[in-house]
Amino acid sequence: MNTEQKLALVTGASKGIGAAIAQELARSGFAIWLNYRSDHTAAAAVRDKIENDGGRCRLLPFDVTDMHQTEQALRPLLEAQVPYAVVNNAGITRDTLLAMMAEQQWNDVINSHLGGFFNVTRTVLAQMMRKRQGRIVNIVSTSGQTGVAGQTNYCAAKAGVIGATRALAVEVARRNILVNAVAPGFIATEMTAAIDEEQIAAKVPLGRAGSVEDVAWMVDYLCSEKARYITGQVFSVNGGVYMG
Ligand code: NAP
Repeated sequence: MNTEQKLALVTGASKGIGAAIAQELARSGFAIWLNYRSDHTAAAAVRDKIENDGGRCRLLPFDVTDMHQTEQALRPLLEAQVPYAVVNNAGITRDTLLAMMAEQQWNDVINSHLGGFFNVTRTVLAQMMRKRQGRIVNIVSTSGQTGVAGQTNYCAAKAGVIGATRALAVEVARRNILVNAVAPGFIATEMTAAIDEEQIAAKVPLGRAGSVEDVAWMVDYLCSEKARYITGQVFSVNGGVYMG
């Protein structure tokens, strides 16, 4: 085993943006710890693609909303190896107007984005700090930067993660750990499959939804040596749909 190879933990990587991030980071030379929750077939297919391209990938199915599961999955592995990069990407939407929102719809969304960020990051952070190096990239959303009707839960969760990104960036900067967020706009994945393409085209200045690679390239950059002086920032990958 090449002990020099850098390791990246990517959550929610069985499909969509997370899968593209895992593949892009593998292309850049990272070994991958690929987290997901339930879709074993899709996750195995992503692992196979990475391995067929000559990369290394370990599947880590656990629910990021559950601190116990998160620690059980990661702690034994952390004794042998510590990720250089952690990409907090796992998440869900449960859209509805606030007046009709069930408590569970609120809690599920807050727990997946904000809870997931906390559970995963806290589990790995102490060892990363000991190593005095690392990158944390949180996948947020245009919805965390502006208001979207029907998404008070999701907007609150993503705005919360933006705040956490900035605070943590200050906390760990002297340990040479850089913490940034990437805010995608409309990206073609399962999450946005229900949204009409023409509706997206009409809203986005670049006239189309983005691809998962558009987001993955930004994350790959933030995990690279070229981004060594960048921390506490939010990078929009949104085709101009929001210019904040
Ligand atoms: P997606 O295609 O629905 O994929 C979501 C991934 O997250 C899946 O791998 C899923 O695993 C995993 N996941 C969900 N809950 C989890 C949990 N509790 N524990 C572990 N894994 C969990 O979503 P996506 O569109 O790629 O979105 C990825 C991220 O980008 C999310 O944070 C989302 O909010 C953000 N984002 C997306 C868009 C967009 O337009 N698509 C825009 C802005 C931001 P299983 O399927 O295996 O259960």
